[in-house]
Amino acid sequence: MIPAAPLTLQPVVAPPRWQHLWRDAVRDPRELLALVGLEHAGIGISDAAAAKFPLRVPRGFVARMRHGDPHDPLLRQVLPLDEELRPMPGFELDAVGDTAAKAADGVIRKYRGRALLIATGSCAVHCRYCFRRHFPYAEETAAAAGWREAVALIAADPQIDEVILSGGDPLSLSTSKLTELTNALAGVAHLKRLRIHTRLPTVLPERVDDALTDWIAALPWPVTVVVHVNHANEFGDAVDNALGRLRAAGAMLLNQAVLLRGVNDSVDALAALSERCHRAGVLPYYLHQLDRVAGSAHFEVDDDRARALHSALAARLSGYLVPRLVREVAGDPGKRPL
Ligand SMILES: *Cc1c(COP(=O)(O)O)cnc(C)c1O
Ligand code: SF4
Repeated sequence: MIPAAPLTLQPVVAPPRWQHLWRDAVRDPRELLALVGLEHAGIGISDAAAAKFPLRVPRGFVARMRHGDPHDPLLRQVLPLDEELRPMPGFELDAVGDTAAKAADGVIRKYRGRALLIATGSCAVHCRYCFRRHFPYAEETAAAAGWREAVALIAADPQIDEVILSGGDPLSLSTSKLTELTNALAGVAHLKRLRIHTRLPTVLPERVDDALTDWIAALPWPVTVVVHVNHANEFGDAVDNALGRLRAAGAMLLNQAVLLRGVNDSVDALAALSERCHRAGVLPYYLHQLDRVAGSAHFEVDDDRARALHSALAARLSGYLVPRLVREVAGDPGKRPL
């Protein structure tokens, strides 16, 4: 008889804390309402809308919502509502022409000099206005293809000097996956910049852990992190801390917001957002008109009002606190100023 081999204990590496918080996100609309003290309010939550694009919101973000307020600007960004199901002419599935611009699995080449990499389809938070809600990114991420095709395409085109990691949320990937990608890109001599578009530093600030900041600090290119914050209330101590750590790692921080009816469509809200960003070391970059994606019509602010809000903002704030008001138009060579 063969004696039993001595049990060798594998060192157990605990997954990072942020992954636990990620999995612990609120997914049940009724639980969300209970957490913010609204269980009895008839505010039109929709199981059918949630079935199409599930609710997902980290508990730390819920904690920044105002208790008992059905119009809370953070709540409105994530709560599935009946209004999403109302068909609206002009609001389509692929609102920004991504399908046409796809150059390789997970790579979108729409703008000169820049390659946008769909690093992953997942996000820590599901934003109801998001143009990605109908895009089948689950199958189309560069990570799924092991990066090879994406990196080969970027390497073959010397005009590409900036890689933009987008998604989904690229920081939803583990830091080791991200390292794998940037190691592969480090061999591409014509790259000069790396940009990361992410909501994680604000919706799940615990994501900015030591491993992540070590990764950023060691990258061979100047790094810009574009955080996507729509309202000043999304900030808090943990968020300020995460943003400070990103800056200390050498990243430049910019904000891109979407103009959303019922969330930030007032001069006061927009001015507060810019000022709060600046306090956290983030400069306003873009204020986007909504992409006209099916299910998001109730968030739309018409162009005349958008321009008026933007002018009023410019009259009030220092120039560098005024984001550019733009919209994405399918086929255009860049974001179109309004
Ligand atoms: C927005 C966007 C970019 C980046 O545009 P900037 O104006 O440089 O911020 C690049 N590629 C795609 C596909 C985009 O949608
Ligand atoms: S891609 Fe960005 S805006 Fe869209 S759901 Fe994910 S985090 Fe929200």
